[in-house]
Amino acid sequence: MAFDSLTEKLQNIFRQLRSKGRLTEEDVKEALKEIKRALLAADVNFKVVKEFIGNVQQRAVGQDVMNGLNPGQMVVKIVNEELTSLMGSETTEIALQPGKAMTVIMMAGLQGAGKTTTTAKLAGKFKQKGKKPLLVACDVYRPAAISQLKINGEKQQVEVFSMEDSRKPAEIAREAVAYAEKNGHNLVILDTAGRLHIDEEMMEELQQIKKAVTVHQTILVIDAMTGQDAVNAAKEFHEKAGIDGVIITKLDGDTRGGAALSVKAVTGKPIFYVGMGEKLSDLEQFYPERMASRILG
Ligand code: GDP
Repeated sequence: MAFDSLTEKLQNIFRQLRSKGRLTEEDVKEALKEIKRALLAADVNFKVVKEFIGNVQQRAVGQDVMNGLNPGQMVVKIVNEELTSLMGSETTEIALQPGKAMTVIMMAGLQGAGKTTTTAKLAGKFKQKGKKPLLVACDVYRPAAISQLKINGEKQQVEVFSMEDSRKPAEIAREAVAYAEKNGHNLVILDTAGRLHIDEEMMEELQQIKKAVTVHQTILVIDAMTGQDAVNAAKEFHEKAGIDGVIITKLDGDTRGGAALSVKAVTGKPIFYVGMGEKLSDLEQFYPERMASRILG
């Protein structure tokens, strides 16, 4: 489960703090040093850790905390609040167009991150909310990706649009939106092609799609298991293609949690959902506060 080792370490640190009754500034500093070590071991971005520790320190060595009745618990409360704020404070919804207006969502991400699976998971969520989604296979390089989307679409009972011939993704997107408008769909989710690494061609493709159709939300899918690599990729995607938010997959298998803890702070963009398994129902809304509490155990 996500964050296991971080949770265990933090719990040990807090147990010691709580057992102390009164805290000296030295006690707090020592605890912060250990928290810093635990976050770095969890693969949280170095700059993010530094800023986080700075914030906690500033609040924790304040008079109210040091002279309070329960200084250890106060420090835990501050860490909890700062973790929540690190992950975005508020839950952010994917912004859909109002009423019956059509929303176009573009899914982006590296190959294997879980983009195609997540596209189908999202379609299910929106269908439950009364939308009529159309999934669009824009990955023209991997026929397997198209058939995977079709299989998953069928499971979710959501229509999948594809063009088997070798057209450009931007053209497919344009035709798909026209098809959606004609057929009463009010949500189009474009599953774009991933690559093993970020390259110009992939970014160009995303930009071309954005020129061809109005994309209301660009969502980046990143794999939690790849830690800081995922966060660096998110930064680059955002700089080159512009993203509105992130979905983090495979949190069920990630014992460290560094990507979830860093990506908001590094990109400035919220985490919308987290993937918690391979099943199409394994997609959870992201609640920063609940996640912080989960991390603290
Ligand atoms: P894509 O190349 O980005 O489209 O990735 P896929 O959607 O094909 O997913 C790659 C692999 O990750 C598949 O085996 C998925 O079942 C798996 N996967 C996707 N999301 C999750 C998740 O949240 N948890 C787990 N455990 N596996 C996932």
